[in-house]
Amino acid sequence: MGRVQEKVVIVTGGASNPGLGHSAALSLAREGAKVVVTDIDAVGAERCAEEIRKAGGEAISLAHDVTKEAAWKEVIATTVRTFGRLDVLVNNAGIAVLKPLDELSLDDFNRQIAVNLTSVFLGCKYAAVEMRKSGGGSLINLSSVAGLVGISTCVAYGASKGGVRLMSKSLAVELGKDGIRCNSVHPGVIWTNMQAGAGNGSRTNADTMAAGLPLGRVGEPRDIANCILYLASDESDYVTGAEFTVDAGMTAA
Ligand code: NAD
Repeated sequence: MGRVQEKVVIVTGGASNPGLGHSAALSLAREGAKVVVTDIDAVGAERCAEEIRKAGGEAISLAHDVTKEAAWKEVIATTVRTFGRLDVLVNNAGIAVLKPLDELSLDDFNRQIAVNLTSVFLGCKYAAVEMRKSGGGSLINLSSVAGLVGISTCVAYGASKGGVRLMSKSLAVELGKDGIRCNSVHPGVIWTNMQAGAGNGSRTNADTMAAGLPLGRVGEPRDIANCILYLASDESDYVTGAEFTVDAGMTAA
């Protein structure tokens, strides 16, 4: 038996490889979950689902813009139609608008909040309806170290991730009576396409940041997937409203 055997899971933002959603989707499927991989990049999402199926797992992919309420309703309805229920939602899709305050436009700010924060509100709202019907579930929201501490050029990104952190705690308090758990995950410097983009494709930036960390290395997507797997499984049955820092000790000092 896998650690999440037969659980029905939605992972948003699963197209990017290397990416946290892609890695989480593969890990969850390997441990027995039926996975719905969604992304605004439909081709990439299908590539991830195909990889899971080729490895013997169960997965479908759906085109999904997480900022759109109608798209969320459709994704949840298709999940339940296909697999009969919804047990876990991994709100992973995100973008990083990293600009100094002077260069940050109102459009930049609103876009950042829509993709990283409004999306989490919409996902949790509609997932909770289905989870309640089957007696509970697990909401796993990707925040960041930028949701815990201030970082230069992270005015909009940090606001979105700080919002995810406290929204998760409020949801945990409100939904506990329905058996629905909600936790946030706070990655540090993890090597993905987003991280590569922040360093203009080069790993030097990430390596330099990681060199000063207690564990002294850049994280790999599986480091975050391991945390997501725990929160998706019944091993974390008594865990809600918690924040999981997976950052090589970056925010410990
Ligand atoms: P990534 O850029 O590699 O992947 C993000 C995915 O989200 C992409 O596949 C992209 O197509 C998708 N996406 C973007 N906008 C979307 C939309 N509107 N609707 C649906 N999908 C959309 O990023 P990643 O590094 O894998 O990050 C995943 C999550 O983890 C993000 O929320 C990110 O903020 C967070 N995070 C990452 C790091 C890191 O170091 N990589 C650190 C802290 C937090």
